[in-house]
Amino acid sequence: MKPAEHCPCGSNRAYSACCGRLHSGAENAVNAEALMRSRYCAYALGARTLSAVHLAQLNPPG
Ligand SMILES: [Zn+2]
Repeated sequence: MKPAEHCPCGSNRAYSACCGRLHSGAENAVNAEALMRSRYCAYALGARTLSAVHLAQLNPPG
């Protein structure tokens, strides 16, 4: 998807300004809501756009 498209998590913000920052590894989730959104967004986008490393960061053990 294009970075300027609305984020699939439903925040009504551009993907690049929302979960895209978390998925790219440029920023960590600041709270539980951000983490939940980023996980949902990653699921919605599918693994095709995300590396295994980034998925691991979004799904820490425990
Ligand atoms: Zn989002």
